[in-house]
Amino acid sequence: MKRDSANVIPLARPDAPAIRVTKLSKTYPGGVEAVKGIDFEVAPGEMFGLLGPNGAGKSTTVGMLTTTIAPSGGSAELAGFDVVAEPLAARRISSVVFQEAVVDRELSGRRNLDLHARLWGVDVKTAATRIAETANTLGLAELIDRPVSSYSGGQRRRLEIARALVSEPRVLFLDEPTVGLDPRIRRELLDVIAGLRARNQMTTLLTTHYLEEAEQLCDRVAIIHQGEIVALDTPRALLAGLGGEIVELRVEGDAGAALALLRARGIASEDALNVGSTLTVPLHNHGAAEAISAISAAGLKPLQISSRTPSLDDVYLRLTGDRIAVAA
Ligand code: ADP
Repeated sequence: MKRDSANVIPLARPDAPAIRVTKLSKTYPGGVEAVKGIDFEVAPGEMFGLLGPNGAGKSTTVGMLTTTIAPSGGSAELAGFDVVAEPLAARRISSVVFQEAVVDRELSGRRNLDLHARLWGVDVKTAATRIAETANTLGLAELIDRPVSSYSGGQRRRLEIARALVSEPRVLFLDEPTVGLDPRIRRELLDVIAGLRARNQMTTLLTTHYLEEAEQLCDRVAIIHQGEIVALDTPRALLAGLGGEIVELRVEGDAGAALALLRARGIASEDALNVGSTLTVPLHNHGAAEAISAISAAGLKPLQISSRTPSLDDVYLRLTGDRIAVAA
């Protein structure tokens, strides 16, 4: 096996998945069961999303994978290294971008990256090359010698990602990478993250409660709800079950009865549901226009009616009876 001469930690275990999580659980002191025995594997090079509302257990899972939170049960490995038995090796091959900033605002971007590279045992020459390369990739080349205190929020977030990349991790963790950014900067950052996909077989696990983020970026998504994975697949496969279009209508009076009526008329199938006065009706065999005229032919006079393509929120809604957007 290939060994790192500096500290005799193997660089990777061949053939191991980038991440393997087995029956992993965490109960915090006080009894909160934040993670309830989850299982998943992530292949090298994959961009994998943990999607769920606030409080679902995403950060706790990342905390266990990055060795900052001790699991209560089960196991987790990064490239074959057990995070509890071999934490140094697991940390050595991974990097994390936390929700809170860790870069030093007084120092320049370059100095921050350089310090991090040193900490990781990267030699001076290699560090200089990597810093130039990551600064370029993340659109920081122009700012790299300025103090971080002069960066905008989006620029600082990009520097946080650059910091995580200078050690050339095999596994990169991004914990809610775009939270708190304004929409334009979020979109810019999403492009940057999408651009990381091509990086030499680097595996990325990102947590998010933004649906579009998971849908756009991730090869596969695990939907997490109250500490459990309720669905795991490619965004396309998760969405496929919902047909091509969804009609949403708000009704006056008994929404359950309205739903039963639409089912009886063959407009709604079993996967249609109502939350309060809003009915969500996936269309499997009809177009939206046909469904809307069938709804009025059935005698319903909705207060509001609209059609749209299904989103991962609809998948979540069907599985949990809640909306991520609302729960988040
Ligand atoms: P997410 O990242 O999906 O928002 P978290 O992993 O932060 O979810 O939290 C999962 C659950 O664990 C929540 O109910 C939260 O309140 C609880 N929790 C998180 N950290 C702690 C802690 N240090 N002590 C006790 N409970 C915690």
